[in-house]
Amino acid sequence: MTKTTVLILLGPPGAGKGTQARMLEETFGLVQLSTGDLLRAAVAAGTEAGKAAKAAMDSGGLVSDEIVLAILRDRMAEPDTSRGVILDGFPRTAGQAAALDELLASQGMRIGAAISLEVDDAAMVERVSGRYTCAACGEGYHDSFKQPAVDGVCDKCGATGFKRRADDNAETVGARLAAYHEQTAPLITYYDGQGALRRVDAMGDIGRIAKDLAAIVESVAA
Ligand code: AMP
Repeated sequence: MTKTTVLILLGPPGAGKGTQARMLEETFGLVQLSTGDLLRAAVAAGTEAGKAAKAAMDSGGLVSDEIVLAILRDRMAEPDTSRGVILDGFPRTAGQAAALDELLASQGMRIGAAISLEVDDAAMVERVSGRYTCAACGEGYHDSFKQPAVDGVCDKCGATGFKRRADDNAETVGARLAAYHEQTAPLITYYDGQGALRRVDAMGDIGRIAKDLAAIVESVAA
């Protein structure tokens, strides 16, 4: 594994980007970098960027490139990212993809793989609407597909508090899927043109998908 592995996870809301990024983080020691998480933290902290981002996030639209890029650059400047990063939910527009290429080039880094998690849109509303996470460690759960072994207790850390994202509801998911298809899906062609695209069937078993992703990471890091 080189120090500078950069992976991009592409896919609509509910495709499993966060779940898979966390698994890759554990397996390969890479750092998960989710612009959604960074923006939610900015909203919670009441920063200027957070205040400016909140309305777009609540409606399921995209936050401006300017705000997202400022947040991403700050995070990429932190030393832990030199171990390699998994970009989860970034880039989401052509402008962000171009800015990322420039940022990486200026640091002598390049994209190892842009992995498209391929799913059926129709299943995404149910996947997203039912999901929640452990408030302490962030482990993901789902009302229908993945309940903790002991009701109300996190399998991973034993905590008993859970949280749901405000935008994980059926109304907002529709807008988020539309934003994905209009602004983000064209990046699949962009990364294919760079020779970096890898496609993974992300509809099946989480463990099988994780294995497919791990094989890709091993091949690009070899
Ligand atoms: P996520 O956690 O990736 O589903 O992102 C939640 C919300 O944050 C999205 O619906 C957008 O409003 C915003 N967001 C996250 N990442 C980006 C990005 N790269 N560009 C624009 N908006 C973003």
